[in-house]
Amino acid sequence: TGRAGGINPDSGGVIDAKNLRVKGELVLLGDSGVGKSCIVLRFVRGQFDPTSKVTVGASFLSQTVALQDSTTVKFEIWDTAGQERYAALAPLYYRGAAVAVVVYDITSPESFSKAQYWVKELQKHGSPDIVMALVGNKADLQEKREVPVQDGIDYAEKNGMFFIETSAKTADNINQLFEVGLEKLNLIKRLWT
Ligand code: GDP
Repeated sequence: TGRAGGINPDSGGVIDAKNLRVKGELVLLGDSGVGKSCIVLRFVRGQFDPTSKVTVGASFLSQTVALQDSTTVKFEIWDTAGQERYAALAPLYYRGAAVAVVVYDITSPESFSKAQYWVKELQKHGSPDIVMALVGNKADLQEKREVPVQDGIDYAEKNGMFFIETSAKTADNINQLFEVGLEKLNLIKRLWT
């Protein structure tokens, strides 16, 4: 299938979790507009919908996705825009997460510094064995790039994070990102059982 576990095409990527075991939770977080919803849509449905604004009206969204091995992964999307002042409440959103994917937009240095803020918060208050990935999205917008790829690599390396640049628009590296994330969830599950 190429993907870790593989999304069950019959499920349409969506729920009906009755007979399924929950494999773990994967939370995507980052500033508004960095592409969190598009990344999940690209992976789960194989689509890019530039008009989709899944996150409108909700700063937190949760979708359970069935994998081919009859387990599920709960994808959660958390829009951290403006949440810095409520940082004390933030662990409510990521405490259960086995994998945290921190997303920024390579055309937005501000989104990169916000990503770093949330990495620090996750290190302080997240589960001690949380797996973290740093994702520079919108890699198709090379001509508008303002965050050098090396800055992402260096920051991730210093913080023991997996790093990848993605494009939800062209689908570049989206599967690779989740292959790693889901593989980590598998490993964590194996440790538990
Ligand atoms: P979210 O607020 O982080 O969930 O961001 P969205 O997924 O809603 O995306 C915000 C905007 O960025 C939308 O207009 C998307 O079309 C656009 N976008 C998302 N991912 C990409 C990408 O990889 N490349 C480009 N060029 N645009 C993207």
